[in-house]
This record gives sequence, structure tokens and C-alpha cells, in this order.
Amino acid sequence: MCCDRLDRGDLAPQREPIISGTPAERDFSGWSASVSYLRPASRGETRLRSSDLVAPTAIYRNYLNHPKDPAALIAALRRVDQIDAMPGLNSLLVRRLASSENLNLTKDRSVDGNIRAFGNTINHPVGTSKMGGAGEAVVDNLLRVHGVSGLRLADAAIMPTIVSSDTNAPAIIIGAMAAWMIMVDNAAGSRTVGSSTLLKPACVPSPR
Ligand SMILES: Cc1cc2nc3c(=O)[nH]c(=O)nc-3n(C[C@H](O)[C@H](O)[C@H](O)COP(=O)(O)OP(=O)(O)OC[C@H]3O[C@@H](n4cnc5c(N)ncnc54)[C@H](O)[C@@H]3O)c2cc1C
Repeated sequence: MCCDRLDRGDLAPQREPIISGTPAERDFSGWSASVSYLRPASRGETRLRSSDLVAPTAIYRNYLNHPKDPAALIAALRRVDQIDAMPGLNSLLVRRLASSENLNLTKDRSVDGNIRAFGNTINHPVGTSKMGGAGEAVVDNLLRVHGVSGLRLADAAIMPTIVSSDTNAPAIIIGAMAAWMIMVDNAAGSRTVGSSTLLKPACVPSPR
């Protein structure tokens, strides 16, 4: 949406028939316009604080750290505004509320400030233990931790990049894949189970 040629969508605009964050006493109807940015270039980080296994890790989110991200969101908010300006919605629009009423979409600094003041996460972190080659990633393409035998990771942490969607369903599929891989390994090891493909969950695609 923000760029000329993309192989995947990078923005997910949303319209909700509610006024986000509005006090209950407001007795008029409205809608909220927002946009999710699906291809952030900023990268967060988690680090161990100590060798204590149960100690909380340090989490650095680093939102909007990469200049590509605020630029994409500025373009996105302008596109949201174009959609609101279309006749179907614009004829219903009486006034803007809250964060958007002081927003000057012609000025990058105004939009940037608005994004930093009111932008929010929708809590879909991935990739803290991403899949990839040894030396550059934590797990291999069978979810095995590089350099540690007998240990697999099976959750959203292994995604090398974030998916173009919510993350719960992909995390469930990763879990199903992991279960299938373990069953295949066990079947190969014990030779007591028949064709391992019979164990493959229906939701899991066959490996190529
Ligand atoms: C507020 C919020 C709203 C969300 N809304 C959506 C949504 O609408 N749609 C969507 O698709 N996704 C949504 N997500 C994202 C989705 O919940 C996650 O992508 C998904 O749950 C990731 O699955 P996971 O298995 O990687 O991690 P989790 O679901 O977080 O599972 C990790 C598990 O490990 C356990 N655990 C942690 N530490 C230890 C330990 N030391 N020992 C033993 N167990 C431990 C935890 O208790 C937890 O059960 C939302 C997330 C949040 C936080």
C-alpha cells in the first residue's frame, strides 16, 4: 500500500463501529479508523539478565526505531484519511475526535508525533528464537535448537519474520507441525509405528 510494488500487503486498515477510548457518557455514534503495519523494519531484542532460569528477561521493544517504520505509518494514515474522504464515509463524518482532531496530515512532523503519542501495539511479537541456518538463527527448519541435541522450540518465537496476519493460528500450526515431527522421529527410532504420514494432522501441509 505504501510502496509501488510489493509481493505482500504491508498495511491492514481497520474500521470499527465503535469510538475507541471514548467515555461512556458520549451518546453519539461513530467509528474508529486505524491501521496495522505488517512489515516493521525495527527489531526488538530479548536478553538474559542472569543465569537464573526463572529470572525475567530484559525486553527491548524498539518500536519505530527504524526510519522506514514511521515513514510507512505516515503514508498509511494519509491513505486512511483518503478512505474517510470517500463519499460513502465522508457524508457521515461530522467531526474528528480525540487524537485525530489536532492531526495535520499535510505535515510529516504532526503525523509522526501523533503516531508516537497514540500508536499502540496489538501484541503479536514473534521471532525471538528465529528459524534459519546455524550461526544466524536459533532453530533449524525442523525446529531443533542449533547446537543442543534433543531440544525443539515450537511457538511464535521461531517465525523468521512476522506473518501477514494475526499470529495465534500460525503458532498453533507450528505446534501441530512440531508434534508431527516428534512422532515421525519416534516412529523412525522405535520402528513400532506404521506409516508416519498417517499421524500427520490434517491441518499440517506435507513437507516439500
Ligand atoms: C493481549 C493480546 C491479544 C492478542 N490477540 C490476538 C488475536 O486477536 N488474534 C491472534 O491471532 N493473536 C492474538 N494475540 C497473539 C497470540 O496470543 C500469540 O501470537 C500466541 O499466543 C503465541 O503463541 P505461543 O505459543 O508462541 O506463546 P504463548 O501463547 O504466550 O504461550 C507460551 C506459554 O508458555 C508458558 N510459559 C512461559 N514461561 C514458562 C516457563 N518458564 N515454564 C513453563 N511455561 C512457561 C506460558 O504460561 C504460556 O502458556 C494476542 C496476544 C496478546 C498478548
